[in-house]
Amino acid sequence: MPVSDYLVTIGLEVHCQIKTQTKMFCSCRAGFGYEPNTNVCPTCLGMPGALPVLNEYAIERTILTGMMLGCRTPEVSKWDRKNYFYADMPKNYQTSQLDLPLCIGGRVPLYSWAFPADASVDTDEPVVRYVQLDHIHLEEDAAKLTHFGNYSLVDYNRGGTPLMEIVSAPDLTSPDETYAYLKSLQQLMICGGISDADMEKGQMRCDVNVSLRPRGQKELGAKIEMKNINSMSAARRALNYEIARQAEELDRGIAQVQSTRRWDDALGESIVMRTKENAHDYRYHTCPDLVPVHTETIVAKVRGEMPELPDARRQRLVQQYGLPVSDANTLVADAGLCAYFEAAASSSQAPRKIANWVINNLTAALTEKELSIADCPVSPAALADLVAITEEGIVSNNQAREVLDVLWTKPGMSATDAAASLGYRKTDTGALEATIETVLADNADMVAIVKGGNLKLVNALTGKVMKASNPKPNPKIVTEILMAKLGL
Ligand code: ZN
Ligand code: MN
Repeated sequence: MPVSDYLVTIGLEVHCQIKTQTKMFCSCRAGFGYEPNTNVCPTCLGMPGALPVLNEYAIERTILTGMMLGCRTPEVSKWDRKNYFYADMPKNYQTSQLDLPLCIGGRVPLYSWAFPADASVDTDEPVVRYVQLDHIHLEEDAAKLTHFGNYSLVDYNRGGTPLMEIVSAPDLTSPDETYAYLKSLQQLMICGGISDADMEKGQMRCDVNVSLRPRGQKELGAKIEMKNINSMSAARRALNYEIARQAEELDRGIAQVQSTRRWDDALGESIVMRTKENAHDYRYHTCPDLVPVHTETIVAKVRGEMPELPDARRQRLVQQYGLPVSDANTLVADAGLCAYFEAAASSSQAPRKIANWVINNLTAALTEKELSIADCPVSPAALADLVAITEEGIVSNNQAREVLDVLWTKPGMSATDAAASLGYRKTDTGALEATIETVLADNADMVAIVKGGNLKLVNALTGKVMKASNPKPNPKIVTEILMAKLGL
């Protein structure tokens, strides 16, 4: 039967590195890009007798995430040991949380602008729907292993850094929703300053599980998990493949077995790794080295740090600046671009025009030069000035693009000065009118043709006025005055 006759159920476990100065249970520096095995100590190397000390800031960030997602934080949260033997975990257990995590329940909004570009979303509302969460817990990251032909290298710098695990209920129904879930979650992490959530850098990693069951069947099918998927589009591809594979096998009467498969994004297929693995295999038990966390004062502190969420920001951009919904969506999807826009728009009379410049011209220039908005040499104030002189008619839209090029190479220059350097100044209407009179008098034959109804020559007359003028006026204004003088 066709895939559409099966109900698809997807659940996600997302690991997210928390932006902290130090590790979860010791004072070693956290972060990325240091010489391997330089940020280590007896605690994060799992030496006998070394004891852990909690990183309070990481706990705060996790509770803040839960607050942003509508989770409940229990009064007491505790730590558990998840036992396994592997070179990336020298203690032979990961300190994690099992039955009393920092955040319980909650939901992740699927933002309308977070869906893949080729998936149609049929709503103007910022949130398409909410996906239920099971819980969020805090744990430590494992060390980083790099595998070579017949040996592996291990870097313990990453070992013991704070890692938040966001576990959804089996509440997603399609690969497109899964993509939107990851994108929305990433935006929320950035918005709360919790993580940069860059999947390419491994700051956000996801395990997906998916099961199929025939429509009408109540109990879920066997769950197949794929671990460590490293991009949103890879998650979408992996799920599309896996759904088709399971449907085909079910059609042929092959029952699915709970298992873990490895997604090979280059090959575009998944390969079975191991079957059945349950929480009890890890022999979880309460960590005797760490006292439970009493959360009340932390919850109260964090409440004052709630950021404006992307959906609220979307509504505000529309109301405060009168932006079209599509522009507001584009801006809210990119926190850096949005901050730039607001910096430029706050003092501007023409915020819609600013949005247009930011979304179109500025973004195009940044893409061409492979720069991020954070490295944009044109300041928000200079852009606001550029839009202002365009609105005043000192430069036309085309001339403004030339001015932008000047601003790009001369950061710190005002748009007015950059325009002047190209010969564009505020039009002296008296002088311009005199020039126009002269041009009209010198070209009586053309004037007669225009007055006879051939308006094509107006452009030629404008050109002549432009040529005769210094500084260069705005051609639009020249044409306006010409038309008025010709009585058209
Ligand atoms: Zn350490
Ligand atoms: Mn985990």
